[in-house]
Amino acid sequence: MNLILFGPPGAGKGTQAEILINKYNIVQISTGDMLREEVKLETDLGKAAKIIMEKGNLVSDEIIISMIEKRIIKPDCKNGFILDGFPRTLQQAIDLDNILDKLKINIDMVIEIHVNEDILLKRINKRALESKTKRDDDNSEILKNRIVVYKKDTMPVLEYYKNLNKLYSVDGMKNVEEVSKDIQNILS
Ligand code: AMP
Repeated sequence: MNLILFGPPGAGKGTQAEILINKYNIVQISTGDMLREEVKLETDLGKAAKIIMEKGNLVSDEIIISMIEKRIIKPDCKNGFILDGFPRTLQQAIDLDNILDKLKINIDMVIEIHVNEDILLKRINKRALESKTKRDDDNSEILKNRIVVYKKDTMPVLEYYKNLNKLYSVDGMKNVEEVSKDIQNILS
């Protein structure tokens, strides 16, 4: 089973992905985690990405696609994967389809965790307060920019999957357990 978890920053994609990988024995592919690893290792890619991530902007499609291309062919993806935080632009979605075509695999479903914007802002402010040292991009100004970027660049991706009849939505304003239950209902 190959899934995409879709939603704005603060929607709880990471939390839900974690629940799903344990239940279905599939792997989580988070482009954000992969980039943070590159930043930590101070690779050239990491150094370039850091500047962009610190502003809450998007890393270039080329970089992201080349990372995904290498990751998705690894043996641990055979049983299925959850894409978390990718694709984030229409171009990434189109490139992903080309990659998957060549590998003769499919995205089965795209699950959108829908969160109302006011609640999202409250959540991200809370996250900013809680995790001052955890993530450099977890301060409220940057998170607000990330929401602007989400609306402008990432929302069109939803339409793309809707047209392919692959889009399902859950109410991300419910608590973690309820959201997880709703997702599992869709999957079964
Ligand atoms: P995340 O952990 O998914 O919230 O991602 C953290 C940051 O990494 C984002 O704000 C972007 O700067 C960058 N990033 C992660 N995934 C992507 C992507 N698919 N396309 C472009 N930039 C990304």
